[in-house]
Amino acid sequence: MPRVTTTIYTLLTLTLLVGVGMAKDQRPNILFIFADDHAYQAIGCYGSRVNKTPNLDRIANEGMRFDRCFVTNSICGPSRAVILTGKYSHLNGFVRNGNTFNGGQQNVAKLLGQAGYQTALIGKWHLRSEPTGFDYYHRLIGQGPYYNPTMRTNAGDLGPGGFRDVKHTGYTTEIITDLALDWLKNNRDRDKPFLMMYQHKAPHRNWQPGPKQLTHYDGVTVPEPETLYDDYSGRASPAKNQAMEVARHLNKNDLKLVPQRGLTPEQRAVWDKAYGPKNEEFAAAKLEGKALIQWKYQRYVKDYLRCIDSVDENVGRVLDYLDESGLAENTVVIYSSDQGWYLGEHGWFDKRWMYEESFRTPLMVRWPGKVKPGTVTDAMVMNLDFPELFLEIAGADIPDDMQGRSFLPILVGQQPSDWRQSVYYHYYEFPGAHSVAKHYGVRTKRHKLIHFYDLDEWELFDLETDPNELTSVYADPAYADVLVGMKKELTRIRKQYKDDGSVVEFGPSRPRKVKQQQAKKERAKKERARK
Ligand code: CA
Repeated sequence: MPRVTTTIYTLLTLTLLVGVGMAKDQRPNILFIFADDHAYQAIGCYGSRVNKTPNLDRIANEGMRFDRCFVTNSICGPSRAVILTGKYSHLNGFVRNGNTFNGGQQNVAKLLGQAGYQTALIGKWHLRSEPTGFDYYHRLIGQGPYYNPTMRTNAGDLGPGGFRDVKHTGYTTEIITDLALDWLKNNRDRDKPFLMMYQHKAPHRNWQPGPKQLTHYDGVTVPEPETLYDDYSGRASPAKNQAMEVARHLNKNDLKLVPQRGLTPEQRAVWDKAYGPKNEEFAAAKLEGKALIQWKYQRYVKDYLRCIDSVDENVGRVLDYLDESGLAENTVVIYSSDQGWYLGEHGWFDKRWMYEESFRTPLMVRWPGKVKPGTVTDAMVMNLDFPELFLEIAGADIPDDMQGRSFLPILVGQQPSDWRQSVYYHYYEFPGAHSVAKHYGVRTKRHKLIHFYDLDEWELFDLETDPNELTSVYADPAYADVLVGMKKELTRIRKQYKDDGSVVEFGPSRPRKVKQQQAKKERAKKERARK
């Protein structure tokens, strides 16, 4: 529906409701369920070879699954900032983890609030500044731990910063769900529609399973991905020069070979009972070479899947409540992740790259009566489009400076003829964790062009003949024409999204702080040497 028509429609609906004396605003609720680092390869409805997710699958089975949902910048904080603002990182000011989100800028919670929605954020936030625009929040501080988190809320008896900290005991995935259910049951205004952002920490590194899932997958061999032993030949230098290999970069804490911090004595006893025998067996085996890589892969992926098992179970609790309470009928349920993830593909864990596993992210949407159950689309959508979708669902205006586009028409089975045919990506965090070089690029249905611009190295992939992206055809004469077209498209799309390479970073960022600390140390060292 065009914007003006939508607004008129909403106003009419509201006027009619007031006219007939109905206090309740019947616009749909929006439940945005967000995971952190959840690979689509580890969701049943995406054809997972490694696990089952019956509750998450319900959303797709009763709604639509998106097979080409992409992120603009594959890392936690930046993805969240994009979803709040509908703007690429270079415009919203949060380009890499360690930046501080400028809460003074326009965001979707503020806009929905102005449109008469109540807004709540529960769980992971990870943007450093306090949330703005949310009537209620109860968030993890920073990354937040898997067990016994202290969380920060704007409800209750608040301190000078306008918030208070609450210490919780238990498993974080369950605690976040308890808080979400409590808000739905006891604390929301039943006369208003809501946006609830229910955001898990799981399955983020270091993948600590919950007490109920500690022994899941014991005795099972999880299949390895085809590209676990990738040698990175056939691509530009960055793929080889990263620091995110299962074989070399998982540490003892990741692999649960050292005691995990922050557990209560009771939790530790349960933990040790599960891991003690497995670790003794590992120590006795004295594995080396390929056998050691295989063991690391199994340990890593099983812990990751155990974390997802808890997410699946807890999302199930929320879906059940929606059913029992009658809310399900008028609530749009969205499941996504801040980006995709490597489950051993290319030998990796982590994210960051414009390669498919981390560039793509899961997206399933259920909306009874509007979205046809069991539908699948390959339309190219992006996390950049999420806030525009929320606003259109609410019948609110979509500001012109938002850069995405609501995919509501796609949800209801009417793909616009002028829908985007390419997506743009830009990753910035270098130097940084896992040493992934800065890059930007463009992907069409069939091809992907990547520019590692600080190195001036390029890659071009034919996703039809090489879906695993193992061989760049950048220098292949057979692709000369494709290359010309893709470079032209890259220039066009960078202009479209106003990315000329400049970035307006907001507030202090960790890399700068680290630099300052290093400089201070250097000065102190020189000082000592002089004395
Ligand atoms: Ca993440």
